Amino acid sequence: MFSLIFTRRFSMAHRLIADPAGKCAIPHGHNEQVIARLQPVAPQRLDGRANMVAPFEQAKARWHRFVDDRVDHAFQLGESDPMINWFRAHEPQRLGRLLVTPGDPTTEMLAACLMAKLNAFLAADGNDLRCVELTVEETPTNAVTLAGDPADVLPARAGAGWWRRADDSINDLDPVPVALSLAVARR
Ligand SMILES: [Zn+2]
Repeated sequence: MFSLIFTRRFSMAHRLIADPAGKCAIPHGHNEQVIARLQPVAPQRLDGRANMVAPFEQAKARWHRFVDDRVDHAFQLGESDPMINWFRAHEPQRLGRLLVTPGDPTTEMLAACLMAKLNAFLAADGNDLRCVELTVEETPTNAVTLAGDPADVLPARAGAGWWRRADDSINDLDPVPVALSLAVARR
């Protein structure tokens, strides 16, 4: 079966607080790469004319826009990280730039959320392709690959979060009232 593979680079910051003594509890960043492998839901032979698996420019453009505009330079935090409340209190206009995950935003968690998001985009577009494998390269020598259904590996309590929605969201925080956001921005 054919696979279509897209790669995109992004920069990110996160911190991991489940082990408070770990050095990853200090916010820090990585330049990462996300590699998605897509396959047709119903594979067919090449038609002998156009000989393409599926038109994927639209799917790819949407995915890359999401990575560039939303994932790139987002700050990844676990849902119970007190830094979320810090932003709520002091810089609520930046809450939309927090990528929030159920538990620590590890590379494994990011891979599962991104794979679910890409599949939400593909399904919403009526696309015949699905992401069957997604790799996040945290560094040139460390990578996590997820194959299969991200719903099977996300924590049971995770439910339907932003990663299941075909929109630009990267968290499920309550939206900031516009008036408050402007007031803080003017300070
Ligand atoms: Zn890290």
